[in-house]
Amino acid sequence: MTLTAAQTSSDLPILRTVEDLRAQVAAWRAQGLTVALVPTMGALHDGHLGLVRRGRELADRVVASVFVNPTQFAPHEDFDRYPRDEAGDSAKLLSAGCHTLYAPTVRAMYPEGFATAISVGGPAEGLCGAFRPQMFGGVALVVTKLFLQALPDVAVFGEKDYQQLMVIRRFTRDLDIPVRVEGLPTVREVDGLAMSSRNAYLSAEERARAPELHRALTAAAEALARGAEAEGVLTGIRSRISEAGFGAIDYVELRDAATLEPVTAVVRPARLLAAAWMGKARLIDNVPVAPAG
Ligand code: AMP
Repeated sequence: MTLTAAQTSSDLPILRTVEDLRAQVAAWRAQGLTVALVPTMGALHDGHLGLVRRGRELADRVVASVFVNPTQFAPHEDFDRYPRDEAGDSAKLLSAGCHTLYAPTVRAMYPEGFATAISVGGPAEGLCGAFRPQMFGGVALVVTKLFLQALPDVAVFGEKDYQQLMVIRRFTRDLDIPVRVEGLPTVREVDGLAMSSRNAYLSAEERARAPELHRALTAAAEALARGAEAEGVLTGIRSRISEAGFGAIDYVELRDAATLEPVTAVVRPARLLAAAWMGKARLIDNVPVAPAG
């Protein structure tokens, strides 16, 4: 999209209700246009904007949603302090070529008397699912609602949240939701740290140490592809990130890239996934692992 001098961030239409979203999508469909949806929780960075750009390649119109979804946070988690900046988000979305922002209120998404949940298994088991038991059910609920509200042709999600992407692919297939789910490789800072809204919780010193998570995973993936034995490699990642100043390590695991089932050797494409605490920030990251040989 080419901007004229008169256009500002306020030119990005913001829709607040399901009715308005449906009317917009129907108007596009009436013109024969295809639609991509990019669900987010806001506090947008270049990773999110990468999803919007991919959406533009895949469809004629892109709707980004910004909704900090209460059902995927446990009571002790960071729902209240999660960063929120609608004006900044709207300006960034416009610059990335997004056509419309859908930013419903909590009440619009979960009206009085809301009483429905979705239970997810398979790829939701273990990893983040073990440490944040509330999360993937909440993600499944909100993403299913967004899919049924917008009925897009395609929706774009980041590999940064690899387990989440696999969970979304699985329930979309299991529930016969007619939306294509596309994944985008993780967008990183120049030093390798995966971009994340939660990086804002890091102090300057923690921020300097945080890229060691990605470095450790990358070196480990290379070692596995050269045929190194998995158990020793996983132990090596744990020591390396502990030495770099990470606190609690929630998990470091090797999983099948397609099913997310645990694996002990890499005979098919695999994924190394980790979650660890740096100060008040829980950082997650993952890298692909090619079969040895
Ligand atoms: P969030 O706002 O953190 O819930 O993320 C919204 C979407 O952006 C999800 O599909 C994430 O996987 C994706 N995302 C977040 N960070 C990145 C990143 N660094 N690279 C690619 N996608 C990302």
